[in-house]
Amino acid sequence: MKEWRGIPRAEIPWYPTIDAKKCIGCKACAEFCKNDVLEFNQDTGKTKVKNPYNCVVECRTCARICPTEAISFPDEMAFSNFLKEKLAKKE
Ligand code: SF4
Ligand code: SF4
Repeated sequence: MKEWRGIPRAEIPWYPTIDAKKCIGCKACAEFCKNDVLEFNQDTGKTKVKNPYNCVVECRTCARICPTEAISFPDEMAFSNFLKEKLAKKE
């Protein structure tokens, strides 16, 4: 996705962050997401974020299915305010 509601996707800081200390390498997130955001790394035995800007804005599904709560997203309120400001500038 190059743009989201007319905003360049690369200007929208919405993507998962994986805490490597918590990741047990179960691959559930990487196998679930079809957007090529996440990649299991054979060497480390953990999943990493490969293409952050492929993530669907405001999707959090992989965080919900992670058994160890290793995946996090930006603060909901702060992100919502960020989007409002960005969208208002376009009007
Ligand atoms: S939040 Fe959704 S789109 Fe983004 S990486 Fe997770 S499952 Fe994929
Ligand atoms: S679902 Fe969680 S524990 Fe499993 S690979 Fe993904 S980040 Fe790691």
